Amino acid sequence: MARCLIGCGSNRGSRRDQLDRAVELLRYMPGVTMQAVSRYRETAPVGGPPGQRAFLNGACLIETDLKPHDVLQLLTAVENTLHREREERWADRTIDLDLLLYDDLIVDSEDLTVPHPRMATRRFVLEPAAEIAAELHHPIAACTVKELLDNIATHALLIAIVGVPGTATSEIMDVVADSLMAHAVHANVPHPGDDHSASRCLATWRHAVTTWSEAVATDCREEGPHITVTNAWCETLLGAAAEVLTPDDQASLHAHADSLRHSLMRPTAALFLHADEATLRERVAFHLRQASRHTDVFADLAATTILLPALDDAVASLLRMQERIEQWLRGGSSRCPPPRAVVRIDAGDLPQAIAEASAAVEAML
Ligand code: ATP
Ligand code: MG
Ligand code: MG
Repeated sequence: MARCLIGCGSNRGSRRDQLDRAVELLRYMPGVTMQAVSRYRETAPVGGPPGQRAFLNGACLIETDLKPHDVLQLLTAVENTLHREREERWADRTIDLDLLLYDDLIVDSEDLTVPHPRMATRRFVLEPAAEIAAELHHPIAACTVKELLDNIATHALLIAIVGVPGTATSEIMDVVADSLMAHAVHANVPHPGDDHSASRCLATWRHAVTTWSEAVATDCREEGPHITVTNAWCETLLGAAAEVLTPDDQASLHAHADSLRHSLMRPTAALFLHADEATLRERVAFHLRQASRHTDVFADLAATTILLPALDDAVASLLRMQERIEQWLRGGSSRCPPPRAVVRIDAGDLPQAIAEASAAVEAML
């Protein structure tokens, strides 16, 4: 028997009746035993088209011998029974049933991702979930549901928006910071400009790591509620430097970063802007065409493309950098544990990525 945590929400029609009916329909499904149902809470809509009604959100815990995809089918069947329509993304809905956790299983398929990929930054999911299943384990965050809730339920949020050059981390950080009146800390990754040798120089990178970490540390010391958003983390700066510095210089930079880490708190969440190879190739080509103009959204590619003028080399370099970020986020860096909440966002569609990033941060508040 597997234990499944299910998130429920409704903001159209008779919200409470629909949630009750969904729970009753699940309760009487063959192969399902209802273990617990949370209270329902009213929450503000996050993301989606403007002007939506408030949600009622809850969670339930079932035991079942159904396989994960069969549970998803079951949830979809209940949604269909309650007239769930699927037009625009995150539009208002009579009922939404999401499979949050299925034991300790990790599923990553076309139509099903478990644990639910956005649950760790959603207060409207974690609060009812923690009420009925506080000790349930999240296999990727490697902590309990309660710990996930505690992670975001803090008055000082530190959000790292990470991704390789060309994923628009800087632009996305600025939009998120503006919309939430958060403080933005911009990392100045060395750009060669006229002097190509500068970005291969250890001193340039030491300076970049120092100024960035001091700015973040200053924010971390601030008292009272605040949100800090930054477009880097030590691991992303070191991962970028690995493309241009000698092994000795890299070791020295690592030691320097280690000496600064004690002043940094662990980020509350990382938003990982992930781009596939085709997107990166297109953006490097765009940058090379636009470099002489002032409208280049992907100007942060300058270092990569000037140092590695061949398109293929630049793309390969970006993919290696991206792999290093992924390794860190999967827990592969002994120096710095990854944030508990990680949301992967497709960087291929910029407006969509901005909407996803803003919604992920807003959902924590
Ligand atoms: P969000 O997933 O951000 O909460 P949503 O619940 O509004 O958004 P839906 O329209 O309900 O999204 O579902 C879109 C698709 O997500 C579904 O077709 C389903 O196949 C897929 N999906 C992937 N993983 C899950 C999961 N863990 N639970 C529910 N649906 C999932
Ligand atoms: Mg949902
Ligand atoms: Mg859903």
